[in-house]
Amino acid sequence: MSYVAPIKDMLFTLEHVAGLGDLARLPGLGESGLDTAQAVLEECARLNQDVVAPLNRVGDVQPATLHDGVVRTTPGFADAFRAYAEGGWQGLQHPETVGGQGLPKAIGTPCVEMLNAANLSFALCPLLTDGAIEALLTAGSEIQQQRYIPPMIEGRWTGTMNLTEPQAGSDLAQVRTRAVAQADGSYRLFGQKIYITYGEHDLAENIIHLVLARTLDAPEGVKGLSLFIVPKFLVNEDGSLGSRNDVWCASIEHKLGIKASPTAVLLYGDGHGEVGSGAVGYRIGDEGRGLEYMFIMMNAARFAVGMQGVAVADRAYQKAVSYARDREQSRDVAGSPAAVPIIRHPDVRRMLMTMRALTEGARSLAYFAAAACDRAHHSPDAAERARERALYEFLVPIVKGWSTELSIEVTSLGVQVHGGMGFIEETGAAQFYRDARILTIYEGTTAIQANDLIGRKTLRDGGKFVSGLIDAVRATAREAIASSDPTITRIGRQLDAGASAFAQALEGLIASSRADIRAGFAGSVPYLKLAGLVLSAWQLSRAALAACSSLEAGAPDAAFLGAKIITAAFFADHLLPQTAAIALAISEGPGSVMALDEALF
Ligand SMILES: Cc1cc2nc3c(=O)[nH]c(=O)nc-3n(C[C@H](O)[C@H](O)[C@H](O)COP(=O)(O)OP(=O)(O)OC[C@H]3O[C@@H](n4cnc5c(N)ncnc54)[C@H](O)[C@@H]3O)c2cc1C
Repeated sequence: MSYVAPIKDMLFTLEHVAGLGDLARLPGLGESGLDTAQAVLEECARLNQDVVAPLNRVGDVQPATLHDGVVRTTPGFADAFRAYAEGGWQGLQHPETVGGQGLPKAIGTPCVEMLNAANLSFALCPLLTDGAIEALLTAGSEIQQQRYIPPMIEGRWTGTMNLTEPQAGSDLAQVRTRAVAQADGSYRLFGQKIYITYGEHDLAENIIHLVLARTLDAPEGVKGLSLFIVPKFLVNEDGSLGSRNDVWCASIEHKLGIKASPTAVLLYGDGHGEVGSGAVGYRIGDEGRGLEYMFIMMNAARFAVGMQGVAVADRAYQKAVSYARDREQSRDVAGSPAAVPIIRHPDVRRMLMTMRALTEGARSLAYFAAAACDRAHHSPDAAERARERALYEFLVPIVKGWSTELSIEVTSLGVQVHGGMGFIEETGAAQFYRDARILTIYEGTTAIQANDLIGRKTLRDGGKFVSGLIDAVRATAREAIASSDPTITRIGRQLDAGASAFAQALEGLIASSRADIRAGFAGSVPYLKLAGLVLSAWQLSRAALAACSSLEAGAPDAAFLGAKIITAAFFADHLLPQTAAIALAISEGPGSVMALDEALF
């Protein structure tokens, strides 16, 4: 089997890091505790291991194609998509009122991980559909919700996110697509969108594009942007499909990775539909609040892209372990009669442990964040809801930026473990590396996540929220230091040092931003990385403490629990110390980032 879902680690993390037991008792979460999680995860694993994962390589060699405006996806994708939809997976986290299952995000998150580990290209279609559903749930009218969401949950239709234009990438203030108001309250859209994931395909009978566009006379900049529903086929009152709308796929891109995911150039108002000139669109919510609504979709999508990072990292790790067990090369450095499997060489072990620790660290931080999102929605206590919302919003750019950056490192190590075979396409190790490379770019590059993290989430309140978080990290460190187990004590000491580095970086960031805001932003991505390292180590330390207590209580599966502690110790020994160097660079080094005159580059 090319992918085996790490259900044991997922359930352990849900229980001890995300606190699923308590979470399930919150109103509206239907007692969805560990038993539910186990049943759901096992079912999800079956679909992804047996049906979706085998299509990953097929998609790489037989990508989506475009002929006469029609996109054909990789052979097998349509059947797999039907199985996914019929299994009810699209509605897992969405409310029962619109046909979903209303499960906590904490349970939905490992399912998102499995789907993406199985096949990143395939998973993008449900990922964007989830985002469209979420945006409609938050900002759509009741009629819009009833009309468009249930068919998306049933998998009959899919959703897209249309932001990017040739001149408007990171800077959406430059969006030019025009929306012209009509007498009947609808709009006609004209313009070009690029890089639209699953902008055209043959997996479903209709595609619901959510499009950012500018109404006539709207002000310049982001305040002039509104959000529109533009269905590929218009939808009649009774829900049946009507005329072909004036939105067309002009081309699809040839890419480094995720080749099976069609990335479309879409033309709005090209004039050859059945509706006359201009794509018919319907505004969502208020005029001028489009970006705000799109952010709802983007936050959901950013978190999910972070999970793509965890997922592809885990898949690469599994493949590397399997290769390292089989490949025999060189004698053991401590002596052996013949060549040994390369997993016995210390440097290969270092690579595998790095891959494992980064992946488990990012997974635990993401599940912790998902639980915060659930508490923000379902806690009966308003103050707790506000606190958890702030925590989730702080963590989203880290889950996105950090998990995707590390996925490039992990998949690259995966290639290295394979030696020359890693560079040869047949093994598949290279595909994970190529596929992972997009993750730090779309849904906002790492720099855009880091700008959000330092601007809105750190500097705006003078570092108050982050300081509280650092205190919480220190509390876990104290608990670990007090342990009678020397490994846990060592983890605690390193975690405490990581918390100090975080505090030093925060202080440096605030000081340099006061002196010159550009100096503060020069440290934005290093700050995000430092936050990712410390907060992941925090969650791994909590997991190690829980594993230690379980072992002391005589819990079964001592090997698994022992492995949790060793992985946390490796993270603390080998990865966490990087935070000291990053903190130094942030507090002492911002000057040299901008010092060289532009002309001298
Ligand atoms: C395969 C693929 C799928 C995609 N899918 C979608 C989709 O479904 N829908 C959609 O709307 N878009 C999609 N995109 C577009 C994607 O979100 C953009 O490519 C991304 O936001 C970056 O924009 P850009 O390519 O114009 O790069 P630019 O914005 O030109 O950025 C270039 C570089 O400048 C840096 N930079 C820019 N601004 C800043 C800043 N303020 N501070 C620091 N650094 C900065 C960036 O970090 C980057 O390193 C997709 C792109 C690809 C390649």
